[in-house]
Amino acid sequence: MNNDRKYPFSWELLGDIELGRPNLGKNIPLEVYRLMQFTFRDVIEQRYGSQATDEIFYQAGYMAGAAFYRNAIGSSGDPNEFIRKTQAALKEMSIGILRIEQADVEQGQFILTVAEDLDCSGLPELGYEVCTYDEGFIAALLEGYFGRKFIVKEVDCWCTGDRTCRFEAQAV
Ligand SMILES: [Zn+2]
Repeated sequence: MNNDRKYPFSWELLGDIELGRPNLGKNIPLEVYRLMQFTFRDVIEQRYGSQATDEIFYQAGYMAGAAFYRNAIGSSGDPNEFIRKTQAALKEMSIGILRIEQADVEQGQFILTVAEDLDCSGLPELGYEVCTYDEGFIAALLEGYFGRKFIVKEVDCWCTGDRTCRFEAQAV
């Protein structure tokens, strides 16, 4: 399968935006990002079902998080520096405002929140969490720094009536 693939991801695919968009620049309205994400999600669900869609979004978020860690965060010293750099990168890229609510580095257990989240802030209340992509993304960031696998689950979301997304992360 691998040799004839058309679309393997690489960070370089993000392109030279300054060169390519001298007038329009780096930023787009967030609606455009959400329009693409939620129409992809609809089509994938129609074709593959809800569970596979969530798995695909988690896996894509994980791939993005791994690349983001390598390219936008980089190696860090102590855990506090990793968290500071991650907070700064997520804010710089307008992804969200990260806070760590609980951290047990030994056990690999974390509770963290992302306010003003890119994927869900301001959406209608839906009665379920929607930030599956973020779950994978955060899992990859933690794995990048700590060098162990994490499972991340969103437990509160704008779409469940909360005003911040809350994630539980557990090393496996
Ligand atoms: Zn959310």
